[in-house]
Amino acid sequence: RREAGQGVAAAAIDLRGVEKTFYSKAETFSAVRSLDLAIQDGEFFSLLGPSGCGKTTTLRMIAGFEEPTAGEILLHGQNMVGVPPYKRDVNTVFQSYALFPHMTVAENVSFGLERKRVDKQEIRQRVGEMLEIVGLGERGDRRPQQLSGGQQQRVALARALVNRPRALLLDEPLAALDLKLRQAMQVELKRIQREVGITFVFVTHDQGEALTMSDRLVVMNGGLLEQVGTPHELYERPATRFVAGFLGTSNIMEGKVTGVDRGIAVIDAGADGRVLVPTDRSAVGDRIAVSVRPEKIVLSRDEPAADDERCAVTGTVAEMVYLGTSNTYEVRLNGGEMLTVLEQNHSTSESTAQRGDTVWLTWRPQHSLQLVDEPA
Ligand code: ATP
Repeated sequence: RREAGQGVAAAAIDLRGVEKTFYSKAETFSAVRSLDLAIQDGEFFSLLGPSGCGKTTTLRMIAGFEEPTAGEILLHGQNMVGVPPYKRDVNTVFQSYALFPHMTVAENVSFGLERKRVDKQEIRQRVGEMLEIVGLGERGDRRPQQLSGGQQQRVALARALVNRPRALLLDEPLAALDLKLRQAMQVELKRIQREVGITFVFVTHDQGEALTMSDRLVVMNGGLLEQVGTPHELYERPATRFVAGFLGTSNIMEGKVTGVDRGIAVIDAGADGRVLVPTDRSAVGDRIAVSVRPEKIVLSRDEPAADDERCAVTGTVAEMVYLGTSNTYEVRLNGGEMLTVLEQNHSTSESTAQRGDTVWLTWRPQHSLQLVDEPA
């Protein structure tokens, strides 16, 4: 953040050209490739991607459990090459909370401060405050096994935060919890982060979790950065085919450009109708890929007027699923392609069409998002 009268403050965590290669007898394996990433002070930042994409390896390099094969990691402007984990101003919360079973909750939380020989009075005060923040003010005397999974997770969090690190690194901390508890803890964790105001770096493979909690996130795939941005930017403007498919549901269509007029390309997507795509880089004859989100498409039984400027394709409803607040349709276009459409049920719960009906799908050209195959 920029302070009046000062230059731009250093990022809390700055990765510059970071690579990690694992060498074994049989092979060398690139887990992280040339990663540039700046995480700002006080951000809730997530590393999101499928299993094996390099999230955990990246987190472990920030913590100092792994050294990068190449590149630099700076914490608040200081180069961390060769600095051991305990000398870095970060703490890590793992998926397995690793609480001491023979100690009470308060003893678990105070353990690190005792070892640092912090004043007894101060320890009591800081542990008390921290247990309040994580919602365990009344449970300091319990033992870990007398607590639920969610409560144990909170103890692990309190223990990591009580040392007042400048950043907290969390490796899939909610993965062991059941769905309901996980959702409740997502809200809690976000509240706690806001309250303590420190940088959180959160590893997850769950896109819903990353979208709900993050100020910003990075999507990784095969050791590479695909895209960085706010949840809104990544969902509304996915840059790559991978991001469009990994975050939410996406309809991906492909076709040759048959014309371009004032920055809008017309593509032949093999369907009856017209698919228009805003483009700043494609010309007639190029083959391009486009993503359209299911909720941007309007489904109707009427053919749009000839002078309608929206994208419009026609097909047959192959499936219709009633979901209470919404309906989803799978529509097979004349051409074979399947598109998913999400229709909100507002005042009426009557669905617009049934299985077998011929329908028209329309959307505004700006909701056709041109994708690239590989990150830039
Ligand atoms: P997950 O969600 O499954 O933990 P991830 O995105 O966190 O996945 P990483 O744990 O960072 O992935 O691993 C990235 C790749 O590096 C994987 O293919 C993994 O097998 C490999 N890898 C990780 N650690 C080592 C190691 N010590 N030696 C060799 N290969 C490793």
